[in-house]
Amino acid sequence: MSVLDGRKIPSASMSETLSPFRATLTLDQEQVFRYLEYGGASPSKSVLKKLSQLTPKAREMAQPQALSRICSVGEAADLHKNDLPRPIQRAELLAFGLCTIGSIIEQEAKRLRDNGEWLDWMILNALGSAAVSELCGRLGKRIFDWAAAQGLNASRGFEPGSGAGHWPLERQRIVFANLPAEEIGVVLGPQLSMWPEKTLSFLMGVGARIPQADHPFSCQGCKRIDCVYRYEPAKH
Ligand code: SF4
Repeated sequence: MSVLDGRKIPSASMSETLSPFRATLTLDQEQVFRYLEYGGASPSKSVLKKLSQLTPKAREMAQPQALSRICSVGEAADLHKNDLPRPIQRAELLAFGLCTIGSIIEQEAKRLRDNGEWLDWMILNALGSAAVSELCGRLGKRIFDWAAAQGLNASRGFEPGSGAGHWPLERQRIVFANLPAEEIGVVLGPQLSMWPEKTLSFLMGVGARIPQADHPFSCQGCKRIDCVYRYEPAKH
């Protein structure tokens, strides 16, 4: 990197892989409510009781793993600059991210569904979604920290196919072309669905020419304001 006006300018050639990490998840109730589609409403006592029973089990079953690779735009594989989400087309670096909680929770959720245990199925499924979302938030913050340590800004994460990013699902191939997904047991299917199901992928822009995002993941910008999954964390 060189320094201009006190700011570090990334060199055209650089690549760094953040070490894969495992995490103990908190599984905050408010986040799980979001995936139970409660919006702002309060769940019933029976749901809350079941949630408190299943939360520690979900923590045990989760196998959280995450990895990220940061590289200069020129070093990214299978990428044309127009493929990037519009807000990060001036970024000098790209951070690809992949997070999974493994397949045990989804297997147990399917067993519950096949047994007709609908409430347990619904809650465990929501816990799995909250778990991978929490993991993604942690990886995003690691990338924020990495960027800050270099004196650079980082954008929010853009997930292929997500309404907030207007980044087409087909871009999933670019994320997978730039990450060793097999290291954490993740496979991309021909229809662009990921396995295990509770897996999320994303791309962030990093550099001196883009503004710093307030939060790594937010639904800010998505027009679906009535979406029950909507998440817009408060600015710090
Ligand atoms: S509001 Fe709903 S559809 Fe839009 S990005 Fe958020 S979760 Fe996705």
